Amino acid sequence: MNKYKLLIILCFFFLTLFLPKVTAIINGYSLMGKVICIDSGHGGVDTGALSKTIVEKDLNLVLSKKLEKELTSRGAIVYQTREGDYDLSTTTINRKRSDLYNRAKYINEIKPDLYISIHLNSTTSQNWKGLQVFYTNKNEENKLIAQALTNNLKEKLSNVREIKQGNNYYMYKYIKYPGILIEVGFISNPDDNYLLRNGEYQDKLIALISKGIEIYFENK
Ligand SMILES: [Zn+2]
Repeated sequence: MNKYKLLIILCFFFLTLFLPKVTAIINGYSLMGKVICIDSGHGGVDTGALSKTIVEKDLNLVLSKKLEKELTSRGAIVYQTREGDYDLSTTTINRKRSDLYNRAKYINEIKPDLYISIHLNSTTSQNWKGLQVFYTNKNEENKLIAQALTNNLKEKLSNVREIKQGNNYYMYKYIKYPGILIEVGFISNPDDNYLLRNGEYQDKLIALISKGIEIYFENK
């Protein structure tokens, strides 16, 4: 290997090493030091909603990883409740309950400034479509996060539903820290289903969610 080649390889190596920091500087470290926990819904034996083309647990994870990358580039410290195809249950009886309980426990241990659960919606009717942010009254910040995210999504997307209180999933009773659940679309609707499988749309969605989180912290 000649010196020239070695130099190029070294340059690439250092570029990869510092790339997240460089991106963060460009974005102004807008989320510098904020601890954010991403909760990718379902996993393992729990597939979540299914369509012919989408398995909810898989797409949740794809979106969660993209969100992690985006938030990290803005300076946030990001944790994920799961990073692969598994659930968090520690028992075989009441497996779902155990999974949800352990997610809440994990989030409480992290003590995040914000958590975000990512899910996909599905109904028997093909007509229902759109994104929706759910929140509970467990923490008074939750509604503010839901509204900031929804307002920002509405700026660029036409299919955004109003925020909805009453996310009755078992785990949210136990989470002590602020956060929301977002259903990013109905996989039972052909338009949403098509969009959700599109990489460019996914990136747009993730950028909008990240910006919404940023706006929430700016206004806090
Ligand atoms: Zn789900």
